[in-house]
Amino acid sequence: MQQTGFQLEHCRPNCPKAARDWHNLYDELEIKLTELNLLQILQDKFRPVLNHHLPKVCLAGCPNGCSQPNIKDFGISGYVTPRITDAQCSGCKACERTCLEEAITCQPNGITIDNTRCISCGDCLKVCLSGTLISGESGWSLRLGGRVGRHPQFAKFAGQVPTDEEVVAWISAIMSGYIKDAGPQERLTHFLNDNKVSLVSSVNGKSAHKSSGEEFQDQRQ
Ligand code: SF4
Ligand code: SF4
Ligand code: SF4
Repeated sequence: MQQTGFQLEHCRPNCPKAARDWHNLYDELEIKLTELNLLQILQDKFRPVLNHHLPKVCLAGCPNGCSQPNIKDFGISGYVTPRITDAQCSGCKACERTCLEEAITCQPNGITIDNTRCISCGDCLKVCLSGTLISGESGWSLRLGGRVGRHPQFAKFAGQVPTDEEVVAWISAIMSGYIKDAGPQERLTHFLNDNKVSLVSSVNGKSAHKSSGEEFQDQRQ
């Protein structure tokens, strides 16, 4: 992997549980990260360039996070929020049984969803045959600054964006900041911890923009 100057990972291809398809995003990120010529940047900072120097980007198709996005510099997870329509609910309770978060309650007059419990995995949509539950808002949850090693830490929630392009722009902006502003031997993980990042987008009030000096808010565990 040192040959590319970055590590880009994904979860299981074509998984039926995916809330978002990551294949195109993976390809776009590979192109963008390659364009940044990161290997040369890292070789100017570190000799030799070791695994822990590499920027690590990880894609997961849903909040299950099988590819471990929470311990990478950039963790990207697909999400889809269920929307309740006017279509008649059959009362089958398949959605209630499917929801591992116990967010759905079936009642005689339809269902309710507890949004404080729902993690937007989309499992309930897949079992509703009546059309009462359909896809609502969908996109990518962004996390930043995860790592393993001597001082492990989970990546922190940094916002949600609806499109692949916004994910690419977000990572590209941060990596460009690292290339431009990081110290001579500063690792990306320390650069991110020192709040030297500039994020780019905002969706549904869940901001993915952070100014220097602000703390990240981990809104979704
Ligand atoms: S993270 Fe979700 S989509 Fe990816 S392999 Fe796991 S369950 Fe499937
Ligand atoms: S999207 Fe997932 S967590 Fe939310 S209600 Fe449906 S099954 Fe439950
Ligand atoms: S799966 Fe659909 S039809 Fe069945 S209880 Fe849930 S909302 Fe109603």
